[in-house]
Amino acid sequence: MNAKRGKEREDFVESRKKAKQVADFYSGRSNQSREERESSPIIHLKKLNNWIKSVLIHLYVHKGDSVLDLACGKGGDLIKYDKANIGRYVGVDIAAGSIDDAMKRYNNRRQRLSFAAELFCGDCYEVDLERSIQGGFDVCSCQFALHYSWSTIERAERALDNVSRMLNPGGFFIGTMPDSNVIVQKLRAAQGLEFGNSVYNISFGEEHRTKRFSQATRFGIQYHFKLEDAVDCPEWLVFFPYFQSLAANYGLDLVLKLNFHDFVHKHIKDDHFIDLMRKLGALGDGSNGDTLSPDEWEAAYLYLVFVFKKRGEPGPR
Ligand code: SAM
Repeated sequence: MNAKRGKEREDFVESRKKAKQVADFYSGRSNQSREERESSPIIHLKKLNNWIKSVLIHLYVHKGDSVLDLACGKGGDLIKYDKANIGRYVGVDIAAGSIDDAMKRYNNRRQRLSFAAELFCGDCYEVDLERSIQGGFDVCSCQFALHYSWSTIERAERALDNVSRMLNPGGFFIGTMPDSNVIVQKLRAAQGLEFGNSVYNISFGEEHRTKRFSQATRFGIQYHFKLEDAVDCPEWLVFFPYFQSLAANYGLDLVLKLNFHDFVHKHIKDDHFIDLMRKLGALGDGSNGDTLSPDEWEAAYLYLVFVFKKRGEPGPR
């Protein structure tokens, strides 16, 4: 084996190890009771995240649509898709424990849901999904998870190839992920290699002491992310302009990119979405801590919303 092939093999083994670390972390997270959930230090952030996903679904998912939910987790978005009256749902996640929970959630509600769901355990950034899933989706969603594909170029390309081949022409790719602009800005402003507040902490390794990321290192820039009661694992920076141009190679054109703060400011003016925000309980009048804390709002600034459209003319509905 020559040196280049040897290095590629090493990177592949390392990226698999990291993917397993992420999968084990999420698999090990047990379902919370209602009381545990309500007493979470980031309960309002979780509710805000649900509001953002609900608004995205309201804007881009239509009655009868077929939806592919990549990295679907415990199936937390099943009810949102039921409200959107979709026709087909397929969820895939690398964490076996999460797929088991999603299956239970689906089985508990299946009589009342408007659609049939199929759930698979698999690595969406390594396997060719076309081998096990019949394509032709109107919407592909990847919520809070695409950054796990950015450990190597091969994984990022596999993720986008899967999205593109599964979507119908004119179909939407919707998602949420960390905003690397904000993370890099905060890293540069920090004294050392870590920053955060009472609800989150981000730390970079010594190799990033210069805090400069060159064109040559667009992939594999790892940091450790800890969000109270939610995340404690390695993640990777996704540089948006590069993500956008890579997506374009797979026939996916950018429709929308907004930091969570801007997304909230834009849609909170709409009466329908304000009502939804109240129903979900993300915003209160501030009394008794019934609204987002400043630290939760700062954590929300770490994320962005994206929407892409698959090139080509949509077929008849
Ligand atoms: N999308 C869900 C949601 O919004 O509630 C779950 C989000 S959770 C923060 C991230 C999810 O990404 C976890 O369920 C994790 O198992 C999944 N994940 C990470 N890497 C993955 C991969 N390579 N393939 C499939 N799922 C992956």
